[in-house]
Amino acid sequence: MEPHFPVEINHIRQKGVVRITWHDGHIGEYPREYLRGYCPCAMCQGHEGGVKFVDVPDAGLAEITPVGNYAIQFRWDDGHSTGIYTFDYLRSLCPCPLCSGWKSESETR
Ligand SMILES: [Zn+2]
Ligand SMILES: [Zn+2]
Repeated sequence: MEPHFPVEINHIRQKGVVRITWHDGHIGEYPREYLRGYCPCAMCQGHEGGVKFVDVPDAGLAEITPVGNYAIQFRWDDGHSTGIYTFDYLRSLCPCPLCSGWKSESETR
């Protein structure tokens, strides 16, 4: 399978979403609390393996930084910035109805 990479990443502040346009034309809109809840860092996820949604207080998204050519990093208003979101990971989180990434979140609610 071809690796996924984004051609455009837009933080739409007034909607509180990050819109990612993928190389194959697919577009996903990721609510920031969703991205934050799936922060893949060890501090948020522990070391049990498998990624789960972690309910954290909503914080604004301060900055999006590219990491090499394989990932991006989010810095949140509360200073948290240790999560490295690889493109494959982000694509697997895509919350659009086609990808139904919401499923795993609604299970935790
Ligand atoms: Zn984290
Ligand atoms: Zn999708």
